[in-house]
Amino acid sequence: MADKISVLFSEEEVNSRIREMGEQISRDYAGRSVHLVGILKGATFFACELAKRITVPVTLDFMSVSSYGNSTESSGVVKINKDLDEPLDGRDVLVVEDIVDTGNTLSYLLDNLQKRGSASVKLCTLLNKPDRRIKDVKVDYTGFIIPDEFVVGYGLDYAQKYRNLPYIGIVHLDK
Ligand code: 5GP
Repeated sequence: MADKISVLFSEEEVNSRIREMGEQISRDYAGRSVHLVGILKGATFFACELAKRITVPVTLDFMSVSSYGNSTESSGVVKINKDLDEPLDGRDVLVVEDIVDTGNTLSYLLDNLQKRGSASVKLCTLLNKPDRRIKDVKVDYTGFIIPDEFVVGYGLDYAQKYRNLPYIGIVHLDK
């Protein structure tokens, strides 16, 4: 049976919020460059759209991590599947993530990236579910704070489906 998906944020709402975030980041990084580190695969759509809205010089790299667990629950154990192509020495790094949920993935990742000689490391997430937090993570830029629901679209998947939806939706799983 097809999963039922209800719209949480429309394509217009998401794009307009990303535009605002880009403006904010451009102000905060004025006179500097920003090195975006997108986390595959979920953050790809967000990272590309955000990069287009930033007016200071931007460079981009991607890494892929996985957290052991099932498709809707993360565990505390994180594995790097694909590391960055370039070193971070002296760069102002902005990690771009799709969603911060328990904080397990980002807590590990920020700790890992902070040890690589960058000038600064900040975190930007499209979605933030603070109610689910287990590990404390400092989020510098948040697109939307959302309730404890499983969401898809704009890069986020359920079993690799729905990443291409141009909006953010809540998926009502058949249990
Ligand atoms: P955390 O380690 O913060 O618990 O989870 C981070 C990862 O879990 C996210 O990058 C994302 O891949 C996945 N995740 C957490 N909540 C959701 C959700 O509501 N929808 C989807 N599609 N993935 C989620």
